Amino acid sequence: MTNDAELDYEVVVVGAGVAGIYQIKRLTDMGIKATVLEADPDLGGTWYNNRYPGARFDSESYTYGYSFSREVLNEWHWKEMFSGQPENLKYLNFVADKFNLREHMQFDCRVQSAVFDETNELWKIQVSDGRALTCRILILALGLLSQPTMPRIEGVENFKGRSWHTYGWPHEEVDLSDQRVGIIGTGATAIQVIGEIADKVGELTVFQRRPNWVAPLNNSEISAEQMEDIRERYDEIFETCARTPGGFEHEPDRRGFYEVTQEERYELWDRLYDESGFSIWLKNFREIFTDEEANAEVSAYIAERIRGRVDDPAIAEKLIPKDHGFGVQRVPMETGYLEAYNRGNVRLVDINETPLERITEKGIRTTEQEFEFDIIVYATGFDAITGSFDHIDIRGRDGLTLREKWFDNPTTFLGMMVSGFPNLLMPSGPQSGSASTNYPRGIENGVNWCTELLDYMSERDLKYLEATEDAEKRWTDHVVKMYSVMLMRKAQSWFTGYNSNVEGHEAGKVRYMVYNGGTPKYVASLNDVASNDYEGIRFTADTKDPSDVIAAG
Ligand code: NAP
Repeated sequence: MTNDAELDYEVVVVGAGVAGIYQIKRLTDMGIKATVLEADPDLGGTWYNNRYPGARFDSESYTYGYSFSREVLNEWHWKEMFSGQPENLKYLNFVADKFNLREHMQFDCRVQSAVFDETNELWKIQVSDGRALTCRILILALGLLSQPTMPRIEGVENFKGRSWHTYGWPHEEVDLSDQRVGIIGTGATAIQVIGEIADKVGELTVFQRRPNWVAPLNNSEISAEQMEDIRERYDEIFETCARTPGGFEHEPDRRGFYEVTQEERYELWDRLYDESGFSIWLKNFREIFTDEEANAEVSAYIAERIRGRVDDPAIAEKLIPKDHGFGVQRVPMETGYLEAYNRGNVRLVDINETPLERITEKGIRTTEQEFEFDIIVYATGFDAITGSFDHIDIRGRDGLTLREKWFDNPTTFLGMMVSGFPNLLMPSGPQSGSASTNYPRGIENGVNWCTELLDYMSERDLKYLEATEDAEKRWTDHVVKMYSVMLMRKAQSWFTGYNSNVEGHEAGKVRYMVYNGGTPKYVASLNDVASNDYEGIRFTADTKDPSDVIAAG
């Protein structure tokens, strides 16, 4: 066993996004020698990178902030119900600076590999600046959507105009006036960009392969008086978030779908459609997620709303998804997205009818014509959740790589540990509760649990932890089973590991990426494990001596 003094750090956290910021706060509060390694030049993760016009979250801002500090809650004024990227990045900086967390962060440090050295029982981390660092515990706070993917289409490098993935939208102001812009993709990101820039560009051409169900965000400003009221209600707000499946204030309608009349269902939907945020998705009847007929009815309702907002009936039909029902994948919330197609300078190209052939020097060529652009925007999504793990060479016992282990499907214990990878923790890993909830609510649970686990070990002088194979199998089977009742399993989205641009992730194969049981059940599982002396985790004082098992679930 390595002497603590020989380690560079007791704990290394990878990633200075929403999860990494809170994790380092908890570790430094405990007096642990820890650091954060961040590939970007500054903190913020998602909110550092996604600077595209219209980028904002669709969690109510006051449910998105951290709940751990009363001071932060009292001092921060959210300006909008659904705050935009610049404000969100300011917020994360405010929190980090308030607690002097920057001094525990190292930027421009891309972790290239993390190898568990079984001889010396430590993690060896190779950083892009040439350094090799050691630590006992490795915490990967890599985010869910931090590995952008470009389309697999020829000629991307040939385009002579300006082009970028939305994740890499330039930091400086881009003057879009008079520009001919082409955008590939119609996911949540493109839907925000299109709604925001349609009236600012010269011409906008949208290349759509599969449409998404959308509903209005209905954003608004938050006045000083409203913010005062929110501050007084914070305890109540976080309590509500803790008992709802998605970690939002929105609670599902608990009346049975078939217990009420169709008229009553339509009354509910009329009301929810005009409410803000995810109301129409998450305050809906629970059957819409599991029952084909219920889902078909709500889908027909939303389709009518789309038809009511798009002038050209042929365009409206193209914007209505036919391959999946409303709400079975994450619903993009929009502001003026559908109305953008009523503008004379916006056109929709259905690439099922006229497939993309290649990117040319001047623009994009489909089977029908070449479109000329000044700017091409790739809103083509992410190699979600496991993608950022796959881009680091992570090796556990016997040289086993995480990439190999997860090639077919991720397997985890609680979404936070992997058997064969000692002393590795993931507060927001695949199959964790963070992936399918209001993210900060999820990661606070994850980070708190990881931190308490480290505290438990430290009190008992335990140096190593590892999920047992059996516990990992049980958790993964549980996650897989939950998918079997959800219509989500039939949809092609990052919740099922779909990405047409990543080998092995194309349509047709479900990867079990997220925990679908909702926040209360997930937290109950975490609490059960902790209160049973971390059943499912093997702790040792020395990994090389199997007889040295101190506690095993
Ligand atoms: P996405 O949902 O995966 O959408 C990617 C889009 O690009 C899809 O329309 C996809 O079409 C298209 N595409 C990909 N490769 C293509 C190709 N080779 N040719 C033509 N089209 C191609 O990615 P995203 O929009 O970035 O959103 C990802 C997630 O980020 C969301 O689900 C959400 O969780 C999160 N997000 C959140 C917010 C927010 O909080 N407000 C905002 C934006 C994003 P196919 O569907 O046919 O593959």
